[in-house]
Order: sequence, then structure tokens, then C-alpha cells
Amino acid sequence: MKLIDNWKQAWKLKSVQVGAISAFFYALILFSEQFVQVWNITPQDLKNKIPENIAEWVGCFVGVAMVLARLKKQPELHEVNQFVTVTAGHSNSDPGAVNGKFNEADLAAKFRNAVAYYLREAGIQYKTDGVGITNQNLNAAIKLIKGSSVAVEFHMNAAASKQANGIETIALPKDKKLAQDLSKAVADVFGSRLRGDNGWIDQSQSARGKLGFISNGGLIVELGFISNEAELAQFNAKYWTAAKAVAMVLIKYEN
Ligand SMILES: [Zn+2]
Repeated sequence: MKLIDNWKQAWKLKSVQVGAISAFFYALILFSEQFVQVWNITPQDLKNKIPENIAEWVGCFVGVAMVLARLKKQPELHEVNQFVTVTAGHSNSDPGAVNGKFNEADLAAKFRNAVAYYLREAGIQYKTDGVGITNQNLNAAIKLIKGSSVAVEFHMNAAASKQANGIETIALPKDKKLAQDLSKAVADVFGSRLRGDNGWIDQSQSARGKLGFISNGGLIVELGFISNEAELAQFNAKYWTAAKAVAMVLIKYEN
């Protein structure tokens, strides 16, 4: 590289000054978030030890960095949709498992409505696959997953053995903790036991194989066995309370 003849005087050139200033601000934009984070975790007594006039400069610098960090974050803010999706398993044309006059799709819709009620009460943004008795199909439910921070679908289990019982949430490994919390919330209200790994079932370990709702990032909560008379009775008697407990888990997760 051949330097221009008067490179020693280069700093006086406007173009170099502008370049240096823009490089400084570019670095500030790049590291603004980290800088604000470091400042935020700096203990107050350490901050107190900084001489007063320097503290003012640092404060000013942090202020500028915070504005830049906010500006830098802005585009991402618009991309992240903060809503919860709650859907009911099966649909108005697919009842799912049936026991006497009760079918899975209707019970799941009731539960969805109750969870939605408590989310609304808490001021949480949410989307559902229908209101009242409307229960849209799986494709409609899967479409809602995209853009939601968390998506939960409600089902009831069924087995040939009337003794089969318990609560489980099927989810990807990344949602293990949330799955366990959801199962526990339901099980505590219904007085049921937890199935799988403390209420979590990894779909790769599930006998059902891959489920569209899970593969797309959702969680499926099995609210007990519709084929078990005691669990069905518990559901009908206490589903509002269980739905409230589920909503609390989701509200906590959102915040
Ligand atoms: Zn089902």
C-alpha cells in the first residue's frame, strides 16, 4: 500500500475526520448493547467511586449507547409477535376419542375457551382456532404457531384399558421445562399422576411418532384419559380451575 504524500497531515483532512467519527459511531452501535449490559451489572458502589466529572461523561456515553441499542433492536421488535396460541385438538368434523356423550374435540374446545378467558383477563395477546364450539382443523391450528411465542393444543388421551390414566405434554426437548410445568398445573388440579418424564414426553419417544403440531414448534397437553371414568369426571368438574392453572403457566412464560 502506497500512502498519500501528505499522510502525516491526513488527520486534518475532512474525509479522514468523518471516516474516523463514523467508525467510532459504528463501533458504538455494534457494542452498544454489550456496553449497556456491562453498565447495568456494574455495582452501584463501584459507580460511586468514579470521579464526578468522569461519571457524567460515562453517563452521557451510556445514554447514547442506550439510544443506539434501542434503535438497533427496533427492526427485530417488529418481527417478534408476542402472542400465545391456544387451540383445541381435532375439529368440528373429527371428534377424536369418544366416551358416551362426551367427545375429545368438544372437551378440548371448552378447555381452550377457558384458558383463553384467563389469558384475556391478564391482558395477554392470544390467538385460537375458533371461539365457542368452533374447533378448526389441524392445518388452521398449525398456521397459528408461526409468529406465536408459544403454542399449546389440548387433547384427551384414550386407551383400551379403562384404568389408563395421567397427564402428559408432548413437546420438543427445548420445551421440556414448559411441558412439565403445564402437565403439573393440570395434574395438581385434577389430582392425577404425571406420565413420561415428570409430565413431559419427547415426540421422538412417543408411540404416536411425529405430530405436525409438535414438529412445527407447538406443545400438546393431554388433559387426562377420556376413556377413564374417574378422569373424565374430574375434567368435567374442575376444568375451569385447571384451565386457570394452565393460563398462569403461560402468563409466567410470556413475562
Ligand atoms: Zn387427540
